[in-house]
Amino acid sequence: MINTVPEINSSTSTTDTSASPAIITFADFGLDPKIQKAVSEQGYNTPTPIQAQAIPHVLAGSDLMGAAQTGTGKTAAFVLPIIQKILRHASSSASPARHPIRALVLTPTRELAVQVAENAASYSKHTDLRAAVVYGGVDMKEQVATLRNGVEILIATPGRLLDHIGSKVANLSQVEILVLDEADRMLDMGFLPDLQRIIDLIPAQRQTLLFSATFSPEIKKLAQSYLRTPVTVEVARQNAAADTVKQVVHMVASADKQRAIVRVLEARTRQGLSRQCIIFTNSRLGCAKLSRALERDGIKAGAIHGDKSQGERTLTLDAFKSGAIEALVATDVAARGLDIPSMPCVINHELPFNAEDFIHRIGRTGRAGSKGDAIALVDASEKRLLDDIEKLMKRKLDIQPLPEGSSIPSSAPSRTSSRSDAPAKMSDPFFYKPYEPSATTQPASPATNSEEKKVGITPARASIGALLGGFKKK
Ligand code: AMP
Repeated sequence: MINTVPEINSSTSTTDTSASPAIITFADFGLDPKIQKAVSEQGYNTPTPIQAQAIPHVLAGSDLMGAAQTGTGKTAAFVLPIIQKILRHASSSASPARHPIRALVLTPTRELAVQVAENAASYSKHTDLRAAVVYGGVDMKEQVATLRNGVEILIATPGRLLDHIGSKVANLSQVEILVLDEADRMLDMGFLPDLQRIIDLIPAQRQTLLFSATFSPEIKKLAQSYLRTPVTVEVARQNAAADTVKQVVHMVASADKQRAIVRVLEARTRQGLSRQCIIFTNSRLGCAKLSRALERDGIKAGAIHGDKSQGERTLTLDAFKSGAIEALVATDVAARGLDIPSMPCVINHELPFNAEDFIHRIGRTGRAGSKGDAIALVDASEKRLLDDIEKLMKRKLDIQPLPEGSSIPSSAPSRTSSRSDAPAKMSDPFFYKPYEPSATTQPASPATNSEEKKVGITPARASIGALLGGFKKK
């Protein structure tokens, strides 16, 4: 645990430099037995570092800025103390008036919203508190019914929440705790105006928690405007991947990358390793194309990207989790926040344009202390992107030859290939297309708000919608 602190205004923030060594069990937090029971049913024995550091501060009522990577256990770090703090309002009454929204968690994508809501439902299942999630791209009806029934912990994507507020189905006047999860990504996606509108509706006397994997100047500014004397907790070096992730770069010409993936997976099979992997691509078209090509190569693959409906995404993700799919080919937006326990391997089919996205991508593996491999297939034309990533991570990545295998890329650079020995040309420009909608018509199922911003669909479409609703307690 390294206490390098993001440079936020030191006059208005304090930093938790204690690594909380005394806390070794969840019982030490003094959480209600109903919460502790749920935690032990999850199989959690020891708090993760972000939990050990953040939970006491949240319980004490401080605003908090958490520098936490994906997979560090940050969801429980805010959900558990939130449940504890609002437990005094828990009511078995069926009256909606007894179940106003007390805690609001905003996330950039529907997948992350669903995951946070699943966690909230699991951790609160022995209480009378209700958790629910609302996000765009699905019918509003069920969400409306859930909100009308009353819910204490609401997880939402900003656009859809504003829709519900606009139709007077959601009321934030009794919110006591606000969480901005993956705040860096929310800003990337242009959610700031929506965030501002939502925050204006929440009482000023609230506790605000902001979590972010990376700390850009914009995030620091956001923290300064919305948080009061926040405590900063950080569990890993800023802009670093988890130590449990082994990172390797293979220099591969773009046209050979698909065969290189086959070879990597063959090598993993020979080594007795799981073939399960997430493969990141930069475009929706590239994602779909690669998934089909891998299928033709005999690899059970599925694609998850913004042109897929929510139903298709869920089916693909379930198939991946069950093992029916080995290779989940994904774009950044679709994969954001996916929690797949013990994900053994992440492959970057190409490097992202934004170096911070690389950290998020490889954060899909090595989660909660498990071991993982992060493999980047890098064409010579991607040298500048690789440089940016190494600069951000403050380390050189290990360049290794591709493992031996039967699917030998015909034009693979030699083993000694260096990043500077080839002209910076794009041998397969297809995969370098900037992120853009693949058609002028709207997808069959409207995109999530985050994606809508990217493809420029106006908020008016938000009336097409659909659900999701409350989470049944498991
Ligand atoms: P998160 O960073 O919130 O996405 O969590 C990553 C994963 O860690 C999830 O699968 C959680 O269920 C798991 N997790 C969270 N807290 C703990 C804990 N204390 N012990 C073991 N696993 C945990």
